[in-house]
Amino acid sequence: MKAIVIGGGIVGTSCAWFLAREGHEVTLLDPREPGTGTSFGNAGILSVESCLPLARLSLLRAAPAMLLDPEGPFRLRLRHLPTLLPWLLRYVLAARPKRARQIGEALFALVGRADAAHDLVIAECGLAGLLRPTGWLKVARDARRFAAATAEEREALDRFALPYRILEREELLALEPALTPEVRRALWLTADRQVTSPLAYTRGILRDLEARGGRWLQTRAHGFRRAGDRFAGVVTEAGELEADLVVLAAGVFSRGLAAEAGFPVPLEAERGYHLMLDRNGCRLAHPVYGIEEGFLLAPIENRIRLTTGVELASPTAPPDYSWPRRLVPKARRLLPELGGGIASEWLGLRPSLPDGLPVLGRAPRIENLYLAFGHQHLGLTLGPLSGRIIADLVAGRDPGLDLSPYAADRRFF
Ligand SMILES: Cc1cc2nc3c(=O)[nH]c(=O)nc-3n(C[C@H](O)[C@H](O)[C@H](O)COP(=O)(O)OP(=O)(O)OC[C@H]3O[C@@H](n4cnc5c(N)ncnc54)[C@H](O)[C@@H]3O)c2cc1C
Repeated sequence: MKAIVIGGGIVGTSCAWFLAREGHEVTLLDPREPGTGTSFGNAGILSVESCLPLARLSLLRAAPAMLLDPEGPFRLRLRHLPTLLPWLLRYVLAARPKRARQIGEALFALVGRADAAHDLVIAECGLAGLLRPTGWLKVARDARRFAAATAEEREALDRFALPYRILEREELLALEPALTPEVRRALWLTADRQVTSPLAYTRGILRDLEARGGRWLQTRAHGFRRAGDRFAGVVTEAGELEADLVVLAAGVFSRGLAAEAGFPVPLEAERGYHLMLDRNGCRLAHPVYGIEEGFLLAPIENRIRLTTGVELASPTAPPDYSWPRRLVPKARRLLPELGGGIASEWLGLRPSLPDGLPVLGRAPRIENLYLAFGHQHLGLTLGPLSGRIIADLVAGRDPGLDLSPYAADRRFF
């Protein structure tokens, strides 16, 4: 069948790959090189132990203090508040304890299956060299702060029987000597792997997709041609393309195309920045999240990538790099050997629904449209699994999990 996949991030490229693997004639549409959108600049963690919902009461309680701290992990650009309000209200409602628990279970159902999909992609695309099986660390200087900040997560890890270790200072410094001796304790998420270059990972999948006869067409999709309850084609800047099936996987930009297809979704950007910092001899071996600092430092390619928390603003608002730049002295305190030089700066748009679950599955009312977007902080983790699930649905196979929590016409809170 002629399959058109809209969006060449890790999610769309994975969908295209799984479809090509089953013999479909696949065209991947993206106006920019696949893998160079939000999928370019993440921290590279295959976060298969992430089962805490994004919306939860503890975060709501902490939000005012975080907003008042100019170096904190959460920012809201006030000018954008009116347009963000519907999303924020749903987010608050999604934090109801009972609902948050259901969302945690629906997240676990995905992350718990993510590794198997990565393993297949890694084996068939020859990407094993890009993986670092180290797990990652959440470190704190203050024991009480550590206990408070990790209590919910440890409870969830225990509930889902996911492995982790608590490390005291000596063990921690032996494992990660790049850290300051001021650190006191760490949560070590031992099952997570890290991709050493997220861009190389998506490029590797694209390369194999092309080897299987799929192609990337450098153009933007802006509409569909309908034929009854199906889409017969996709309208692009390069003209109309015929399709037997269409996958919408354009990250945060899926919102406009979903509305165009007749089902508006409350998709917004949880914006996040990165800075690439010169190592200056700092030999960081694990991604490290500073609990007091509120950001992550990850070894990526030959530098250290500082990735920030969340900035809420419209996807098209200009970047404000003053925020990540202010964090560099704190990064150097955590990793004393780190150089202060900023090699590059970047802004990415985590595509997020208010309940923190992606939209994954068949579209409402359009027989041959499939959806894979809204993967929030976990798009790298869940990209290949999303591709596997879409390929299962296209083939009429049981994807092995209940997809109703990820439906495009759910309540989102
Ligand atoms: C700072 C930061 C750190 C992160 N760290 C991690 C991490 O460690 N682990 C993890 O799992 N996740 C992480 N994430 C999240 C992850 O990066 C995202 O969830 C993921 O990249 C989303 O992938 P995507 O394919 O949906 O979107 P994108 O990568 O944004 O891809 C969407 C593509 O669609 C294209 N497009 C848009 N409109 C159209 C159109 N009309 N027609 C055709 N193409 C179109 C765009 O050009 C783009 O290439 C992080 C994110 C950020 C910002």
